[in-house]
Amino acid sequence: MCAVTAAGSAARPASNPMTDLVHNLEAVHERIAAAARSAGRAPESVALLAVSKTFPADDVRAAHAAGQRAFGENYVQEAVDKIEALADLRASLEWHFIGPLQSNKTRPVAERFDWVHSIDRLKIAQRLSEQRPAGMPPLNVCLQVNVSGEASKSGTAPEEAVQIAHAIAALPNLRLRGLMSIPEPADTPEAQRAPHRQLRELFDALRADGLALDTLSMGMSADLEAAVLEGATIVRVGTAIFGGRDYSH
Ligand SMILES: *Cc1c(COP(=O)(O)O)cnc(C)c1O
Repeated sequence: MCAVTAAGSAARPASNPMTDLVHNLEAVHERIAAAARSAGRAPESVALLAVSKTFPADDVRAAHAAGQRAFGENYVQEAVDKIEALADLRASLEWHFIGPLQSNKTRPVAERFDWVHSIDRLKIAQRLSEQRPAGMPPLNVCLQVNVSGEASKSGTAPEEAVQIAHAIAALPNLRLRGLMSIPEPADTPEAQRAPHRQLRELFDALRADGLALDTLSMGMSADLEAAVLEGATIVRVGTAIFGGRDYSH
């Protein structure tokens, strides 16, 4: 056992975080493409959002150098610091806010982000619309829906989604693009697909109801295949690109 481990690690070149990042991005693109092909979809119909929360600006810079353009952040202050540190790349970066958003923290998000996926009530959308600076394009937003019905998770109830979606779509400085969800983790492919399918059915119903939606933000490192099979147009992937997160500091 020990001998095998020693030989194995001796044979492997020293790990280079930059190389790992490039390989991880390639592997995630391959997973997306394989799932898209088995769903009869074009791989380009699924966008990869690299979730960079807890990782330093230099990791975003490295991923950008490898061709990645869209990044997701969960914490307002951390994101603002990172966006500032990467100001030189701003024109070729797309920043997506995907974390829980309190109403007293909407202004920096309205002023700096391109997208917000985590709108779970009308009040947040109204504030973002009011605070979006004149001269910036409309803020792209998704309504977060609690499809798995867990009381502890954020997201609007599916029964309320139709009414809230229409109200958001009427706000002047936002563009409602679609729906987002964070289902409970599940182990089997079928259990992973069920909540994604629910979100897609709600998406189809809203479109049939006259809303011009084009975005289903669903699927993370562990379940992106299930999400792509059910129609995801954006998958939000952190761990499989940047590695495990350290929340200790
Ligand atoms: C952290 C996070 C992700 C990424 O999760 P991984 O399992 O690391 O891929 C995706 N979406 C949201 C909303 C997140 O908070």
